[in-house]
Amino acid sequence: MGRAFVYVILGGGVAAGYAALEFTKKGVSHGELCIISQEPVAPYERPALSKGFLLPEAPARLPAFHTCVGANEERLTPKWYKEHGIELILGTRVKTADIRRKTLLTAAGETISYRFLIIATGARALKLEEFGVSGSDAENVCHLRDLADATKLVDVMQASTGGNAVVIGGGYIGMEVAASLVINKINVSMVFPEPHCMGRLFTPKIASYYEEFYKSKGVNFVKGTVMSSFVFTPEGKVTGVNLKDGSYLPADLVVVGIGIRPNTSLFEGQLTLEKGGIKVNSRLQTSNSSVYAVGDVASFPVKIFGEIRRLEHVDAARKSARHAVAAIMEPDTTPEFDYLPFFYSRIFSFSWQFYGENLGEAIYFGDFSGTSFGAYWVHKGHLVGSFLEGGSKEEYDAIANVTRLRPPINDLSELERLGLGFVMAL
Ligand code: FAD
Ligand code: NDP
Repeated sequence: MGRAFVYVILGGGVAAGYAALEFTKKGVSHGELCIISQEPVAPYERPALSKGFLLPEAPARLPAFHTCVGANEERLTPKWYKEHGIELILGTRVKTADIRRKTLLTAAGETISYRFLIIATGARALKLEEFGVSGSDAENVCHLRDLADATKLVDVMQASTGGNAVVIGGGYIGMEVAASLVINKINVSMVFPEPHCMGRLFTPKIASYYEEFYKSKGVNFVKGTVMSSFVFTPEGKVTGVNLKDGSYLPADLVVVGIGIRPNTSLFEGQLTLEKGGIKVNSRLQTSNSSVYAVGDVASFPVKIFGEIRRLEHVDAARKSARHAVAAIMEPDTTPEFDYLPFFYSRIFSFSWQFYGENLGEAIYFGDFSGTSFGAYWVHKGHLVGSFLEGGSKEEYDAIANVTRLRPPINDLSELERLGLGFVMAL
């Protein structure tokens, strides 16, 4: 049993949806393209799962957040794929890939061959088992990577109103889910090993702004320790967690957000890997010229840093996907991928954006006791990163544009004095 396509996108997440739209813009013919996805639904905007999807009032539900609404583009429903002659092979896991033969074998036993393959397999949530803690498949322990996880989280959350949640991890999932739990009237404790939340991006000063707000909403931060074990009922439901520091936290619900691992295993030994991802060049092409990789699974040259990086953010997924399609369909006119890293989050009524990299000295500006503030990072005499909370569209555009230019900074105190005025004037 087998089918052949010119173009195959492996994975049906954010990058797949944006790649599909780009294929239609570049003139793909009916029957030439297919998307194979383990998930049972058409590509959707994954960020919605930790935000709108968890709201107690008028929560976001599919089909409202299919790609590509997150970039204010068309919403690609299953009907759209049908109308554009794109085959959606859903609920189907690819279990092996043969790069030499240009074939994929699905768990259902079908062989799918391609002329060009785009790998968009994203990543999987890390489990506590990988840190020596067992029991994370219990009915009230939740992860958050896909729609099934989010649906389970909503169910457990609704059964826990007024109760206690323990959030393991102080990164993106930890912060966004903790905010949603508070909004759902659940008491939250957050446990993480670092001295402050969002340890890889925030400075202590930025972290403390958000932590103070969370504390004012009743969130209990337990820092500098990790979980050592779950406490269960005889039926296998978790009732609490033991921490390495010897303390105990009761729990009706546990959310684990301790990072991800890119889904590279199908290609290990067949394609070159770097920094945990599939290595691609500035055309998003892997070590095999018929195979491209995009989104969370790809390690690509970030031109302004002069090195290969793997990014785990939606903007990179959208833009790398579009670029790979352009490189395949219009190889002679597609320039090198030149990407400025962009991360953002929305929690409670806060909204921040970050561009570039958080290297060197942080120079703060704005009102840290108010609603709008930010920071620049200056490294080796150049502005290399910018963070802004509570900005307007013009202000976010300005920090992005200026960060891309990496302007020389000779006087740090002048930069501090000018604050946001520095980017608005350029
Ligand atoms: P994914 O969207 O993860 O898609 C991968 C797809 O491949 C999945 O459908 C998966 O089932 C499928 N797949 C994997 N292996 C196989 C296989 N063997 N066979 C078939 N199918 C397979 N980023 C931001 O910048 N801002 C945010 O606010 C934000 N919020 C987020 C909230 C949540 C809850 C999560 C989980 C992530 C969030 N992100 C956010 C990160 C962002 O969603 C990811 O960077 C983005 O989804 C990556 O896109 P992708 O297509 O590479 O991978
Ligand atoms: P992150 O990498 O953001 O954060 C994981 C956090 O968990 C880190 O603070 C990490 O600490 C900590 N940690 C690691 N091991 C343990 C442990 N055993 N016990 C307690 N804490 C631990 O990953 P998330 O899981 O939060 O997010 C998963 C993915 O989803 C990421 O790719 C993220 O980009 C994406 N996402 C993005 C959002 C956004 O951009 N707004 C929103 C939601 C998700 P350490 O740093 O020391 O390892």
